[in-house]
Amino acid sequence: MVPVTGFLIAMSDAARKFVIGVLLFLAAGAFIGWLYDRPAAGLLVAALAALIWQVRQLLSFDRALRSGDFTDFTQGEGIWEQISSRFRHEHEKAARRKQSYRQLLREVRKSTNAMPDGAVILNAENEIIACNRAAKHLAGLKRKKDRGQRVDNLLRDPELTRLLSADDQIMSIEMASPVTDGDWLSCRVVPYGADQKLLLLRDVTERMRLSKMRRDFVANASHELRSPLTVISGYLDSLADDEEMPAGWKKPVEQMQAQARRMRHILGELLELSRLESAGKADTDEPVDVGRLFEEARNAFEGHAQTADLLVDVQSSAQINGIASEIETVVVNLLSNAVRFTPQDGRITLTWRSDADGGDLVVSDTGEGIDAEHLPRLTERFFRVDKGRSRDNGGTGLGLAIVKHILARYDAELFIRSEPGEGSEFRCHFPQERLVVAPPATLS
Ligand code: ADP
Repeated sequence: MVPVTGFLIAMSDAARKFVIGVLLFLAAGAFIGWLYDRPAAGLLVAALAALIWQVRQLLSFDRALRSGDFTDFTQGEGIWEQISSRFRHEHEKAARRKQSYRQLLREVRKSTNAMPDGAVILNAENEIIACNRAAKHLAGLKRKKDRGQRVDNLLRDPELTRLLSADDQIMSIEMASPVTDGDWLSCRVVPYGADQKLLLLRDVTERMRLSKMRRDFVANASHELRSPLTVISGYLDSLADDEEMPAGWKKPVEQMQAQARRMRHILGELLELSRLESAGKADTDEPVDVGRLFEEARNAFEGHAQTADLLVDVQSSAQINGIASEIETVVVNLLSNAVRFTPQDGRITLTWRSDADGGDLVVSDTGEGIDAEHLPRLTERFFRVDKGRSRDNGGTGLGLAIVKHILARYDAELFIRSEPGEGSEFRCHFPQERLVVAPPATLS
């Protein structure tokens, strides 16, 4: 009896009432049966009646659960009433939460649709999960129809394919708009979550137009200045050759000749930069022998009186798929810098090596080096650590900018390391796809 009492005490009021009610009902059934001399039959009838009533309650509760409408569950009382009211409460709470999530989702959708930039959510296979309204305007993506399609099948651009496989948060590419001729889009990829990414699209037509205007202006101005400069140089040369020229004019004329030469050099480099900027990727399969270029460059520089020791270290027979004159410009520009900034008792090394990752063309010196704060700006046009000195020793400040632009045409990168007082290393890294491995020499 004691465990039964303890069991009843541990129950809620409603549960206790329910158990006591059922027991009383069964006892009443048994009592009525006993009056008719059949207590077992009375108990059985009462138990069946209680079971039928509970099954009815259960079915009615199941209906209420499925419809979510607990007002239908009107017969509830006692424990059933309590269970149903708890469910009703939870159900209402869930409905309120769902409503607030829905509201939040509406707000998020409204704000992403108000964004001027396109945003496309992609899965690991670059298939579209969702996109905002701007993505539709900028790239012509259709929210429902294009869901599940690979974005690089819809926006066909080799640069975009490269960006998607690179997974580089800093990298961005520009591509022609697939919707409006002449418009440009800038694209970036931001990975998030387990394996999702966000492709961000921005209209950069205006920026591209301004940069083209700047390029055209520099190219046109350089081109226009060349003719008058040629005339001036011609007259200066004639003047310098004229034996009747007063002796006092000799020095100014020589200086004017030197400045005219310098201007011609700058104009030539500016035109070369403009050409490289609008040239795009180098599309050629001419194998360039780096070792031979190194030897030619060494021969050209070694004759100069103040040149440091020049070493050539060719460790690979791989060749670069490219345009020989452009790779030569890279070598000559890096080498002429090394020569100008390395004292005569120093050493300059030209190295070519390759591995599974690609090829490295390295020009290193034991010269004066460069302060770390200047390194990020070295490839900017006209940037020189010491303007006066660079000008005096024939620098234009355009050499490294040209190197960078040439390398970009080969998907190659320039890495600079330098220590003031110790020397510098300029490493041009060419990707494996740009290399041609020379066939082994055949014995005759
Ligand atoms: P410049 O025509 O002045 O050499 P560059 O673009 O080739 O222009 O180089 C930019 C600047 O970088 C140089 O003015 C110089 O200050 C620095 N620089 C380049 N190469 C070296 C080097 N090997 N050692 C030291 N400083 C260098």
